[in-house]
Amino acid sequence: MWYGKLRALRLLALLGAFCFVAGASLPGLTLVNRYSPLNKERSPRQATEYIILHTTEGPGKGSLDKLRKYGEAHYLVDTDGTVYRIIDRKRIAMHAGRSMWQGRANLDAVSVGIEIVGYHDRPITAAQKTALKELLRQLQSVYKLPDSRVLPHSMVAYGRPNRWHPKPHRGRKRCAMYLGRESLRAEIGLHEKPSFDPDVRAGRLVVADAALERVLYGPDPAASKSRTSSVAVDTNDSAVIRAGRSAWDIAREQYNAAGTIYRFPDGTTRKGSEIRDWGSLPAGTRVTIANRDSEREGGSDRVQEIGKDGKNAWEIAAGAYNDADTIYFLLDGRVRKGNELSRDNLDTLPAGTRMLVGYLDGGFLSRARSAYDAVGPRWNLATTFYRFPDGAIVSGSEIDESKLPNRTMVFVPR
Ligand SMILES: [Zn+2]
Repeated sequence: MWYGKLRALRLLALLGAFCFVAGASLPGLTLVNRYSPLNKERSPRQATEYIILHTTEGPGKGSLDKLRKYGEAHYLVDTDGTVYRIIDRKRIAMHAGRSMWQGRANLDAVSVGIEIVGYHDRPITAAQKTALKELLRQLQSVYKLPDSRVLPHSMVAYGRPNRWHPKPHRGRKRCAMYLGRESLRAEIGLHEKPSFDPDVRAGRLVVADAALERVLYGPDPAASKSRTSSVAVDTNDSAVIRAGRSAWDIAREQYNAAGTIYRFPDGTTRKGSEIRDWGSLPAGTRVTIANRDSEREGGSDRVQEIGKDGKNAWEIAAGAYNDADTIYFLLDGRVRKGNELSRDNLDTLPAGTRMLVGYLDGGFLSRARSAYDAVGPRWNLATTFYRFPDGAIVSGSEIDESKLPNRTMVFVPR
């Protein structure tokens, strides 16, 4: 009797030790805590309306390190089904970047982000499907979210205007696009999905990637009996520029980055940041993205500069250059919105003028008005920017809130 009790106790202790090691607070999942050093600094999320699915586009180890370093996901699902916790699910993770769904922008503030080790155009493993199914079931139950609110990143990401797409557009990412397909969704327990893009239908965005749109909303080839239909979706990922395949199609928003290398047919090479005349890139030019890191959904690359990121305001903001949410930091110290400057002003802004595209003015801070008062829980995110009275522009992830001078201005993504 006594001996039996001891055995039961030992069993309990063993189980306890196992749960501690695995960090498993949710039953039926192998959860391992690998919290980001940024976890504790992230504000609690005020609401949870979506779960956003991502593919890492790289192997597990390096992805886990990067995601932890920048606090870019709540969970990572490895190929063997292990689920790593990176940011506490109650806090804000930076995973969706420039995003919009049903008119609501910046979904980081209202979503849980799950990264899946794998690639947007390749199948995920059986172990990942099993783990994802259970993780989703539990998160959907905690947050009361229907299947139609579990969305691939590519469905909600959008791009700022550029020389190829002068309007804000869908297609900035192909991240996790196969998780928009009915057949794969069914395998992870999701039985409903959006049947159209609400922001495209409402005219807020245009479609910049027709192949992606077919994957997300077109007929699912796996659901059809015909084998030939499985090649109906052209997701041509060739890295060579030709008619109908632009630098943007290949590199997306990395097209003009220093880490994007163009190798011309004559053998010479150039960095994306050195190219000015995007209209004259010859067919046969090969594009290599050397630094995928700069594709992070953080924010450091969002402050742009006339003369550096583009010849003029139009090249940087395209169709949005005179919009109220394009912010100009003029060289004389004034800060103006696109709709406050005359066309003549806009055309002649000198090199060195800095810009934020797609940003809202949170106003001035003072002793009586803190950063949190002005912009809420997003105050310390990398995508929030502070403009100090001396003209310096600093990301929210780098500021010390107790040292913000009077009359500091704050800007948050729309
Ligand atoms: Zn993603």
